[in-house]
Amino acid sequence: MTLRNIIIHPDPRLKKVCDPVTEVTPELRRLADDMLQTMYEAPGIGLAAPQVGEMARMLVMDCVKEEDKPPRPMVLLNPEVTWSSDETNVYEEGCLSIPEQYADVERPAEVTVSWMDLDGKPQEEHFSGLWATCVQHEIDHLNGKLFIDYLKPLKRQMITRKMQKLKRERARA
Ligand SMILES: [Zn+2]
Repeated sequence: MTLRNIIIHPDPRLKKVCDPVTEVTPELRRLADDMLQTMYEAPGIGLAAPQVGEMARMLVMDCVKEEDKPPRPMVLLNPEVTWSSDETNVYEEGCLSIPEQYADVERPAEVTVSWMDLDGKPQEEHFSGLWATCVQHEIDHLNGKLFIDYLKPLKRQMITRKMQKLKRERARA
């Protein structure tokens, strides 16, 4: 497994609609392993393929927070929200592509998501709580949308300027 570089906002690759996965290839399985390792190492609870520069509709997540519970690494190919609740939830969200910036985002509290797994089989699951927020945040990435796109323009611009500064500093280091 290889740790992948996480792309930092702003970057055109984070604004693109990703292509559907048509076939589960060995390369794709390797990418899934790499993405999970990169996510755990960061540490984060979700990571979408475009965040590591792969423009495929693919995400990984594991929202198990309890120390005494086993991890639940999930890989979702071509995920789609098929149902969402009218009831909403507000979570303070962050993003591995927007380090150390957090803001409240309101989303449907519960969603049903269908996807293809790494065996090419269709899957469907109902998510609530942090899982629901995380899967919606990651699916947004596959459509070129970031959590800061839900914020007021001024707040979004402030965060983007901070990220531009961070990238300049990293480039110099
Ligand atoms: Zn994100």
